[in-house]
Amino acid sequence: VILLDELTKEFPADPPVRALSAINLRVEKSDYVAIVGPSGSGKSTLLNTLGLLDRPTSGSYRLDGIETVGLKDSVRTTIRGSRIGFVFQSFHLLPHRSVLENVMLAEVYGAAPRAGRRERALRALERVRLSHRVGYLPGKLSGGERQRAAIARALMGDPSLLLCDEPTGNLDSKNTDAVLDLFDDLRAQGMTIVVITHESDVSDRAGRRVRITDGVLTEE
Ligand code: ATP
Ligand code: MG
Repeated sequence: VILLDELTKEFPADPPVRALSAINLRVEKSDYVAIVGPSGSGKSTLLNTLGLLDRPTSGSYRLDGIETVGLKDSVRTTIRGSRIGFVFQSFHLLPHRSVLENVMLAEVYGAAPRAGRRERALRALERVRLSHRVGYLPGKLSGGERQRAAIARALMGDPSLLLCDEPTGNLDSKNTDAVLDLFDDLRAQGMTIVVITHESDVSDRAGRRVRITDGVLTEE
């Protein structure tokens, strides 16, 4: 469960840039929330804040009951690694590594134990229905398969929250549908999903749509 209370983020400048302005938001487990809004309105800043990559200037962010704002960086990193997965528009797969290796590499810099890494990666690939492609190089995959490999990588830490910034921005409509079907599967397994999108296909499938305009959030 995500609970934002009067969350504000300012970037230092003269005058400061107020990217998020007193945002209140509650997202329940298994919710699928779409964030829409114009360029520069604060969408990525909100997603980065939810992902504990950015720290707000003021206000509160509780994640599963834990107040995160004042926590040390190291604790925030641990929470991120164990609860949060990220998916981006460009898949960031290493071209000369197989799908399986790409997914396993998610944990190279983390605190996860080495033992069982291969099994965890195979299980993540099974969840995204890519078991038949484990040995492929990314270049041999369709766009949708590449994004599903990137989602498998995001699932390696077994997160309960998936944060996606334009996850289907590089996909045609067929591959977009495959990724949206996968999001439905993950939600059925209890995953909470927050997606930035400007595509109506994606926001129409969401249970809820919020709009950000000049850092101010409104429910639609
Ligand atoms: P887009 O749709 O183009 O990706 P966005 O809604 O994701 O836009 P943000 O990236 O959240 O917008 O930016 C919100 C505002 O904060 C913008 O005015 C941007 O210039 C500013 N901003 C974002 N990151 C920084 C930063 N690191 N330092 C200073 N200003 C920033
Ligand atoms: Mg953005």
